[in-house]
Amino acid sequence: MATPPPPTRRSAEQALGPLPNTMSDLDSDDQLRLLIESVQDYAIFMLDPKGHVASWNKGAQRNNGYSDEEIIGQHFSRFYPPEDLAWDKPAMELEVAARDGRLEDEGWRVRKDGSRLWANVVITALRDPEGKLRGYATVTRDFTDRKRADEALRQSEERFRLLVESVQDYAIFMLDPTGHIATWNRGAQRIKGYVAEEIIGQHFSRFYPPEDAVWKPAMELEVATREGRFEEEGWRVRKDGSLFWANVVITALRNADGTLVGFAKVTRDFTDRKRAEEQRELQTLRQAVQARDEFLSVASHELKTPLTPIQLKLSGLLLAIRRSPGEGVPTARLEKDLEMATRQVRRLSDLVEELLDVSRISTGLLRLEPTEMDLVALTREVVTRYAPQASALGSTLELEAEPSVVGTWDRRRLEQVITNLVTNAIKYGAGKPIRVHVGWEQEQAVVRVVDCGIGIPPDQQPRIFDRFVRAVSERNFGGLGLGLFIAHQITEGHGGKISVQSTPQQGSTFVVRLPPRARATTVPDAPP
Ligand code: ADP
Repeated sequence: MATPPPPTRRSAEQALGPLPNTMSDLDSDDQLRLLIESVQDYAIFMLDPKGHVASWNKGAQRNNGYSDEEIIGQHFSRFYPPEDLAWDKPAMELEVAARDGRLEDEGWRVRKDGSRLWANVVITALRDPEGKLRGYATVTRDFTDRKRADEALRQSEERFRLLVESVQDYAIFMLDPTGHIATWNRGAQRIKGYVAEEIIGQHFSRFYPPEDAVWKPAMELEVATREGRFEEEGWRVRKDGSLFWANVVITALRNADGTLVGFAKVTRDFTDRKRAEEQRELQTLRQAVQARDEFLSVASHELKTPLTPIQLKLSGLLLAIRRSPGEGVPTARLEKDLEMATRQVRRLSDLVEELLDVSRISTGLLRLEPTEMDLVALTREVVTRYAPQASALGSTLELEAEPSVVGTWDRRRLEQVITNLVTNAIKYGAGKPIRVHVGWEQEQAVVRVVDCGIGIPPDQQPRIFDRFVRAVSERNFGGLGLGLFIAHQITEGHGGKISVQSTPQQGSTFVVRLPPRARATTVPDAPP
């Protein structure tokens, strides 16, 4: 086997690139040989013109596993895997290097132990001054680690791409910076109805209803560009023209230097959810309409009840006057009838006042005017006022109280609350004793109204403080179902709480707790 010539500086520079300046003194072939031999990170070796290994360095030994003795004189094709040998890649590479002066390649090579390495290979043809081919300088770097990392990245990108493509529930696709569709997945096909071939390259504004298409897509990209992300829900159009309710997220995609490269768009079809929501809203609306109709019927009935006796008494009196003109009506009858009419008018005006309070509450116009007052004195007044009515219905009405409970509250409104609780106790606890307690408990003023009446079914208890709610049939008991709602609003407006404990057929206890000073001045508490 012909011994190849020692490498010259030129050939070494061809293979390795320019050599550092400090090497300019190393003219001697021995020193250059020493340098090349000791390089560890590069396999540097010479081939004769036929491809037999002519020299071998430390790096080559490290990369390929052969010692000098084992490899020198062997053909370099043994570094190639069988699939490359099958098409004679080693010979082709030498041919190209001889023709072009240089060849660079990356590919799998085989180590002595049979394992593979991913090598970056530069083969440089070495010619003598007359141009005759003397051999080749081969420089090889082991890029196996980099290759593995690249491969891992490629695989993970591939996996991600496959994942995105196969997702069915989400339309996931990319837009270029001007909003033209660049990729398409299965979910997009399922939700929007287009296959990839017919939609890629089209502008995404075609997914919008005509009235939105003229402005919305541009606005969305603008926001996503400016803020990085845009999210909304709205109607979109499928290929077949049908509408679907979409949840849309658009994310701006930028490369490392910040240039906008496009947008990722994720769309979900929330049509079913939207329809269910609409159904629920409709249901609530229907219930509200029903509650209103029921209320109108109860309210007109309640308002009519006092009107009938008034009308009867007045027309009776009118008839009496007309029958015997000039004589007048006996004073006793006049007094009795007018007293009765006045009572009914008071009842009417109380009902109207309740209605007015509800409309004041719903417009935020129910004002509290807190002043210093004694809750015991107020409760005593109410109890005294209603004791005759209670006793007429067979109930005793008693007050147990501390000498005084003074705080800053709206007197008129608390009177309304206590009156409502006491009249309810008389109404729903007729024939049984009723007790009212007033005192301080844990720095709160507390009023308790206890009856032993019909009680309230447990499932109704949480509802009775709502508007228009009545837990009894209107045939047996009158009332608009507003008293407790108003009492609840007034108590909360003071910063307090109203609650109930009740057992059907045994009785109810209503408890009002108030902080020493009213908190708000409007009910409900107006935002600052
Ligand atoms: P109403 O004018 O119908 O009495 P309220 O708002 O004062 O309206 O009360 C709401 C409902 O709570 C009543 O219809 C009744 O069913 C129930 N309720 C209130 N107080 C009592 C009570 N002391 N005992 C039993 N049920 C009561």
